[in-house]
Formats: sequence, C-alpha cells, structure tokens
Amino acid sequence: MSHAGPRSTLLDALPWLDYAFQPAGQPVPADAAYGQQRHSAQVVLATQNLPPKSCESDGVIGENQLPVAIYTADCLPVLFADSQQHQVAAVHAGLKGTLSGILNSAIDALLARGASTETLQVAIGPAIGPCCYELGKDLVAQMQQRTDLPALQWASQQPHNSAAIRPQAHAHHQGIWFDLPHLARGLLLQRGILAEHIEVLNVCTYCMAESGSSYRYNTHFDSGYQSRFSWIRCRD
Ligand SMILES: [Zn+2]
Repeated sequence: MSHAGPRSTLLDALPWLDYAFQPAGQPVPADAAYGQQRHSAQVVLATQNLPPKSCESDGVIGENQLPVAIYTADCLPVLFADSQQHQVAAVHAGLKGTLSGILNSAIDALLARGASTETLQVAIGPAIGPCCYELGKDLVAQMQQRTDLPALQWASQQPHNSAAIRPQAHAHHQGIWFDLPHLARGLLLQRGILAEHIEVLNVCTYCMAESGSSYRYNTHFDSGYQSRFSWIRCRD
C-alpha cells in the first residue's frame, strides 16, 4: 500500500474530484470540513462543519470545492460521488451508524441536491474486515430480526486472511465473524445504487493496514492508534 493510502478504481476514473483514504496519523487537508462524530444518522453540509466539529454529524455533503472528511479507526469510511451532478459526500459508518441509517441519510441528502441513484459511485475504504471483526451471537440474532436489513454475511469459523501483515484478531467471546462492509454494500444496493458502482477496498484495519490504524487492535495489544482521515472534494 502506498504512503498516500489505497486507491479506488471507481473514484480514480472521475477526473473532477480529489480524494484520499489517508493512513493513520496523517493530517487532514487544512480546509476540510468534518463533524463531531456520534455514530448517528446525521448528515450536514460542509459549511455547517466549518470550523471542523461545529456540529454533531457522521456524514458531510460537499460544497464549494471544500474537502469533506471523516475520521475512522475500524468503522467504514464511505466516499460518495455523483458522476453526473458532481456531488460528493464523506460518511463515517460503523456498525451502529450503519444500523441507524447513516447511508440512507447521505443518499437522501445527495438526491435532494440533484444526484441520482443511477450515477452515484461509492467507495468503501479500509475498515475492520470479517477476518478480524468478532461480534456476539446475540447481536447478530437481533440484526436478523430486522426486516429492513439485507441478507447478513458472517461466519462462525474465523476466515483466514492471506493478505494479513499482522496477526488476525483472536477470538474473545466465541462469537461470529461479521462482514460489516458486506452489510453496507447490501444497504446501498437496496437503495438502488448499481452493483458496478460500489467498490469495497477490502483492506482490514486490524490485520492489513498500516500499524496504528485499528482501535480494536490497540484495545487488544495497547499498541497505540491514531485516527485515519478519508476525504473527498469536487475540483470544479
Ligand atoms: Zn483482518
């Protein structure tokens, strides 16, 4: 992985924007707008979060070529770009925020500003993968009760990640190994985003990304961690 963070093939194909899934500890662009994140479904406009953290929000919609950013540890950094209307958004989607509807809120806000589901492109950056994300069985059973969620993907045997550069998470409570990016992808598909317009980078923060990028790894090994910023902006 380059020092600048992994790239999205979908977003790289859009010449009118800039973006990055920055490695842990790198400073965000000076003029970036980002919220006080609360694992909520709250989405606001860029100017509402200048200076940064002016309001509580987990999604920021781009305005005036301003970079919109989110900071994550193991949660999903989700970047949206509408290829027709040149709208962008950055969304922080952990399990809680995803279940609260943050992705739907972001799509609603983008559609209200002229985007359309047929032209929205979405890149899901480095986040804890099913190789390392253990959840209690009770929590998964609760999710399965929800009729508004797409099919969940999980395994009772921990998946081996051949691309790991650090040990994968050890089982702590004989739970299940949950695929959070897959849930996000399913929710995007439910809203009508085209499958070929969704890219999951499949970089696990726990066992694959640069050291210091996983909150959960730090909890297990006390190795320290720093936020990783992801951002996107309209250039024209
Ligand atoms: Zn992993």
